[in-house]
Amino acid sequence: DADLRLTRIASSIRVIPDFPKPGIKFQDITTLLLQPKVFRDTIDLFVARYKDKGISVVAGVEARGFIFGPPIALAIGAKFVPMRKPNKLPGKVISEEYSLEYGTDRMEMHVGAVEPGEKALVIDDLIATGGTLCAAMNLLEKVGAAVVECACVIELPELNGRKRLGDKPLFVLVKAA
Ligand code: IMP
Repeated sequence: DADLRLTRIASSIRVIPDFPKPGIKFQDITTLLLQPKVFRDTIDLFVARYKDKGISVVAGVEARGFIFGPPIALAIGAKFVPMRKPNKLPGKVISEEYSLEYGTDRMEMHVGAVEPGEKALVIDDLIATGGTLCAAMNLLEKVGAAVVECACVIELPELNGRKRLGDKPLFVLVKAA
């Protein structure tokens, strides 16, 4: 029963007040990972959605996209491509700047990891303002890939990240209260 699975996923996510700064309610997915059945259900729900969509690339956003992305990629027979923080990847990279609440950050991807015409899924743990997922999509589109959808475990709906993604579909398992 998908609804029961979603309820269990939602209740397995721990909320930590005032982390990393006062006033932030941090959604902590590490407690979801402590329950193997719930972690399994999380992956299975994504796999059921993406297995027959012709996706050849799962692009995971550092750091928690590296937890959910690889098991999905393996199950659907796609490659996994890490979208990393600056100066972490050893090979030639292309990069994309994006704005944060204070200042900017940069996301990098290896040149040659994704070929023109590939179909990509972008995965992260959480969408807040949507800036991070937009940067990941821009990188993939720069190299000629088509982004089929972005997927997250949790959405913070108040921050309107969905709107920032424009016409790009977003799939989430649960919404933060
Ligand atoms: P956005 O770019 O504003 O959508 O922020 C999303 C990024 O920030 C993702 O990579 C998340 O992992 C991270 N993030 C923001 N808030 C939280 C949170 O409450 N829990 C976990 N990650 C968060």
